This record gives sequence, C-alpha cells and structure tokens, in this order.
Amino acid sequence: MEKSLLKQILHEYDEKRNKANLLAEKRKAELLAVNPRLSEIEKELANLSLQTTKAILISNESEKEKLLSDLKKKTNALIKEKSAFLKSLSKDSDFLNPQFECKMCKDTGYVLRDGVSKMCTCFKQRIYDIAYNKSNMGNLELENFSTFDSRIFSDKVNKEIYKSDISPRQNIKLIKEKVQSFIDNFDDPAEKNLLFTGNTGVRKNFSY
Ligand SMILES: [Zn+2]
Repeated sequence: MEKSLLKQILHEYDEKRNKANLLAEKRKAELLAVNPRLSEIEKELANLSLQTTKAILISNESEKEKLLSDLKKKTNALIKEKSAFLKSLSKDSDFLNPQFECKMCKDTGYVLRDGVSKMCTCFKQRIYDIAYNKSNMGNLELENFSTFDSRIFSDKVNKEIYKSDISPRQNIKLIKEKVQSFIDNFDDPAEKNLLFTGNTGVRKNFSY
C-alpha cells in the first residue's frame, strides 16, 4: 500500500478522534455548568482514579487489597449515581464520553488482539474505499462474481509457460475461492489482508 495513503487515513482518523473528544468536552462543560452535583461526581471520580493509581504502588499486599476494594466500591457507587443522574436528564450513561464513529477502535484505526495491535476493520474498509475509487473498478454491474467465467482459462497444465503444477483454470478457481472467503470474513479482525499485484493489463480488476 502507498505510504501516502496510509498517512492520509491516519490523519483523517486523528481529526475524527479530536473532533469527538472536543464535542464530548463541550457537552460535558454545558451539562456540568447547570448540574453542580454532576460536576462534584466527576471531580470525585477523578480523585478516586488518582487514589487508585497511588494505591497500586503500595507494597503491603493486604493493605493494598483492602484499599483497592474500598476505592472500587466508592467508584462503582459514583458511576451508578452518575448514570442515574444522566437518566433523570434523559441522557444515555455514555453521554459524557466521546462518541467515536467506531466503537471497536475508538477511531484510532487499530485494535488490540491478544496483546498485538491489529488494523481495525473500519480502517481496512477506508483503505478499500479509497483504493477502490482510485482504481478503475467502476463497472461492478458487469464485472462481478455472477458474470465471472473460469472457462475462458485453459484447463491444460503447462509448467513451462505458467510456472505452476495446476492449470490456469484451477488456479483462477482457487483465487476466486480465496477472494470470496476474504469478503465473507471481512469483519473479522483476524482475517488477513488481500493484495493483488501484477503488471498493468493482466486483468487484476476482473477476468471475463
Ligand atoms: Zn475501527
């Protein structure tokens, strides 16, 4: 993939994220200004989070455990109160949080999977959308799976010409299967990306 394309999309994601954060801050400031108790809850929650960070560093295990469970109880009670308060104002419990377009990656473009950072499906989709518009694949009504015809490929194996133990027809059928499986599993972050390479004019867009 072109580096500039990746850079462009990463920049887009930065802006999306910043916008969501700014809007959340604005919503919060407006709501807290007219609801002093909510403002207090937010301050207490921030304070509890600070205390929790400090408590983690305590070396006495039993003291640490007791303090952490105490802090957790207080935090949960406040979260409950905050949620009830927002409900009384007919707002969702996540009203004060940034509303990201993608809940999975929070508009970062990446998700953690088994401790490894992976490209999110929304990010893959964005790359696809841009790359698709750039390529000349505008003729999907005629060029799609239903009009695909493997019979135009030879079913004769010719290792010398095709550098393969299978015929071009078998080969294109395998490619089609892979592409179909890629589409079926597009939402699965574990699905690997698909890369088409080859010189111009070798029918990477479609074979008919
Ligand atoms: Zn995402």
